[in-house]
Amino acid sequence: MQDLLTVMAIWLSVNFGLPAIDEKPRIEFVSAARMAEVRRERLAAERSHGVVEIGQGTSPDTGHEFHAIYDDVSRTIYLPSDWTPASSAHVSMLLHEMVHHLQNAGALKYECSEARERPAYQAQARWLELFGKKLEEEFKIDPMTILVRTSCMY
Ligand SMILES: [Zn+2]
Repeated sequence: MQDLLTVMAIWLSVNFGLPAIDEKPRIEFVSAARMAEVRRERLAAERSHGVVEIGQGTSPDTGHEFHAIYDDVSRTIYLPSDWTPASSAHVSMLLHEMVHHLQNAGALKYECSEARERPAYQAQARWLELFGKKLEEEFKIDPMTILVRTSCMY
């Protein structure tokens, strides 16, 4: 896992100009119930401090809703317990959260929290392309949804 994170940080820095930060995020594998709990806690915390990432989509491997979360404060990526490095879709989700970790650890500033999502989705899409896959198809996210999630509306 540490090697994978190192590769991702280098790949993201070369391809997307993100800061190549050596500090790794903490990784926690959690059950669906715990993930829902973390999600609730983090959404509540978001109102008082900083931004919380809730990545989501429908996993092609399991067919159920797939969530990953990055918490800026504890610098932790939460992955579902059924996450597997054998799935390029799962790995792309980790990559997406890794973008948020580098944004956070590198103290990059964005206009709004949605603007943080743009490079994350771009990187995730490019990564999936390496495996001949499309973000839209793998996660059943249509381009409109991505546009909404990545644009500053207010
Ligand atoms: Zn994100």
